[in-house]
Amino acid sequence: MESLQNKVAVITGGSSGIGCATAHALAQRGARIVIADIDSAGADAVAADITRSGGQAAGVRCDVGAEAAFDELKGFTLDRFGQVDVVMNNVGVLTSGLPDHLPVQEWQRIININLFSVVRSNTAFMPLLIEQGHGHIVNTASFAGLFTYAYDRLPYAASKASIVQISEGLRIYLHPQGVGVTVLCPGPVKTNISVGLPRTFGPEPGIRGPGAQFALLEPDVVGEQVAQAILDDTFMLYTHEQVRDTLVERASDWNAFIAKQTDTIANTPALMQADLLKMAAEAESRD
Ligand code: NAD
Repeated sequence: MESLQNKVAVITGGSSGIGCATAHALAQRGARIVIADIDSAGADAVAADITRSGGQAAGVRCDVGAEAAFDELKGFTLDRFGQVDVVMNNVGVLTSGLPDHLPVQEWQRIININLFSVVRSNTAFMPLLIEQGHGHIVNTASFAGLFTYAYDRLPYAASKASIVQISEGLRIYLHPQGVGVTVLCPGPVKTNISVGLPRTFGPEPGIRGPGAQFALLEPDVVGEQVAQAILDDTFMLYTHEQVRDTLVERASDWNAFIAKQTDTIANTPALMQADLLKMAAEAESRD
């Protein structure tokens, strides 16, 4: 896409974190934004911020897990701004638990919100983008969908791996029809995703990070990367170059890679809730 000026972008999960930062980055480049989020007060607040800065935006309540969500969202966007140019399917929720303790219902909940939201969005918006012969879809996956650094979030990782595959197929299908596709695979970003990590199944597995080589990014950095990826029509967007390096290492010897990951995870203690609370209290007393 050559310019974002006067384009209309719909962003799910736009009230917080990466979605919110992307809303601001696109608005700064002249796009009009629909912020769709289950947190409607948050969506309105982000829209108000953008409007105060001289942009145009509207917030709307949307539960991406609901069947009718995207038909309603398309209707709202067309009523409000008359067109759709960019669709960012960005909602993702985490769950935590050991593989032998995660119930099927929890798998279904995560797959419905993270993966079927993308499917429903495509069903609603893709025909419109194809018919007009231009537009751009951004699907937010995760580096957790590209390689495994923890075993306590399998439904999340599976949903994100599926989003990567769907995005590849869509890129091949839609590019000749004038529609761009970006799959955003963030590494660690400082957002609300794990604030009060809602559900844990079985014995507390603790939090396992991907390793200290993956710096924790501010969401604004990612918002800028997404805006640039849309303008450059970039397909794969890693927020961290280390993701690419890890994939190269895995592709060169998958068996050695998985043996190394198994050793690393077995020999690195996970952070328990009590550790996190202690660290938060220490950080607060330093401030
Ligand atoms: P966040 O929690 O800050 O923002 C997520 C937003 O989604 C929130 O505003 C929340 O209200 C909204 N939301 C949740 N359920 C919803 C639903 N059913 N319908 C509509 N809105 C809903 O998290 P974030 O980190 O900004 O996450 C954005 C995306 O980035 C997610 O897909 C996540 O998986 C992905 N991601 C994040 C990281 C990270 O480190 N933060 C890393 C990799 C991938």
